[in-house]
Amino acid sequence: MFIDSNNNPWFSISEFNIQSYCELQLKYIWSGIRITTKQMLQGTARHKELETKFIEETKDLEEVTIEEALELAKKGITSVARELRIKSFNFRLNGIIDHIEIGPTGITILDDKVGDIAYPGSKTQLFMYAIAFKDCYRSDLDIRVRIRNRDTLQTVWEEVFTENVFNEMEEKLQRMAELAMHEREFEPTNSPKKCAACSYKEMCRSKNN
Ligand code: SF4
Repeated sequence: MFIDSNNNPWFSISEFNIQSYCELQLKYIWSGIRITTKQMLQGTARHKELETKFIEETKDLEEVTIEEALELAKKGITSVARELRIKSFNFRLNGIIDHIEIGPTGITILDDKVGDIAYPGSKTQLFMYAIAFKDCYRSDLDIRVRIRNRDTLQTVWEEVFTENVFNEMEEKLQRMAELAMHEREFEPTNSPKKCAACSYKEMCRSKNN
């Protein structure tokens, strides 16, 4: 998160996943305390592996911009991209989409996660990517979001991004803005299971473990 020159907060889309896990974690991170875990390093390595594989598999294909891919979709051609940087000025969001497919039947935004459970925070993160993409490229194509097991590459969860979902996400955006501007207290999780797995548990006074 950073505050721009107009005093507005901008968020990294992955921060919505952290907020859903525990807002106190977010407070530590925003105050400059960052703990890198072994799992995070493994995640980065796996992402790199998938990216290398993708580059190898697509090396003979013609490169197109996202705008061109959206035009090609109208002609029935599907384009794919990995590690797509995205920025939404209206919602003040930044992020990197793991994998995206743009085709005649719509856009699919994928995120590769550990395991076979689609956690609420991961779903929110995907919906925020959808909001940022729509804002950035103004496409009328339907957007689906999908969580994939990063090791098996099997789909874990998939949903269409709808107007109702957008409304729910607006509430989350508002809450994040209030947290960033110190207009709301950070709420700790009440789940002992989450605290037991938390990297910040040694320093946290609110832990439930
Ligand atoms: S120990 Fe629990 S309450 Fe504290 S930051 Fe971690 S998850 Fe949140």
